[in-house]
Amino acid sequence: MPSLGPPPPSPAAGAAERTARLQAIREGSLGSVHSWELVTAVDGPGTRLTVFLAGCALRCQYCQNPDTWNIRHGQETPVAEILHRIDRYQGVFASTGGGVTLSGGEPLLQPAFVARIFAHCAARGVHTALDTSGFLGARADDSLLDDTSLVLLDIKSGLADVYHRTTGRDLAPTLQFGRRLAQRGNDIWVRFVLVPGLTDGEENVVAVADYVASLQRLGTGDAVQRVEVLPFHQLGRSKWHELGQAYPLEQTAPPSQALMDRVLQQFRVRGLTAF
Ligand code: SF4
Repeated sequence: MPSLGPPPPSPAAGAAERTARLQAIREGSLGSVHSWELVTAVDGPGTRLTVFLAGCALRCQYCQNPDTWNIRHGQETPVAEILHRIDRYQGVFASTGGGVTLSGGEPLLQPAFVARIFAHCAARGVHTALDTSGFLGARADDSLLDDTSLVLLDIKSGLADVYHRTTGRDLAPTLQFGRRLAQRGNDIWVRFVLVPGLTDGEENVVAVADYVASLQRLGTGDAVQRVEVLPFHQLGRSKWHELGQAYPLEQTAPPSQALMDRVLQQFRVRGLTAF
């Protein structure tokens, strides 16, 4: 005899539920979250609550978190849950000069969710950092950027063809977003991942460094406060394997100290603070 469970929802009730859910996503009261962690001295100043949002439009060859790519694989999370967590850590943020970082994946795939979180932080004086490739920068409206204390702008390459090879996408939206940030007076930390044989070409680095130096001239003060050159490492390899994805950098070694020094120098000769 079949077990007697609750009756299935009627088609009309199911449709109403779907509409309400989509409305909540559009308004930013529901988001797809991969994970979160409390970190110090990375992803911005002080101790930070870093929330990794699910979903990304890029497919970087060196991605350490390919498990964040699919927005459907995240946990649907009410924004109130994140805001509650932020309030709990407010004392820690205040005593360490820290705050909240939204990372991913790509947080600007869910701009309304980001806007809700950052507006909450801004109203409480909590520092906010947006870790983004800038590819979807056009989705961030001015009010979201007003509530953003710092943008961690990941510039993955300076030459359009190398950018495309590295990420599968176009470089132009990131460059446009960076210029907009500098013109608005947003603080920026640039991040550049140095991958031997992929992003390390002298001309590619010159293109990144020239662009970053041009942002300084657009801004009124120091738009770009620092450039972080991040050496490629193999820590993400096992995730690619677990997901059954062909990992393109299987044989790639981390950059040598000499290569790191050359690239750092390419930024520093342009008057940029790089480390
Ligand atoms: S932008 Fe970040 S999350 Fe997206 S593919 Fe690149 S490294 Fe991975």
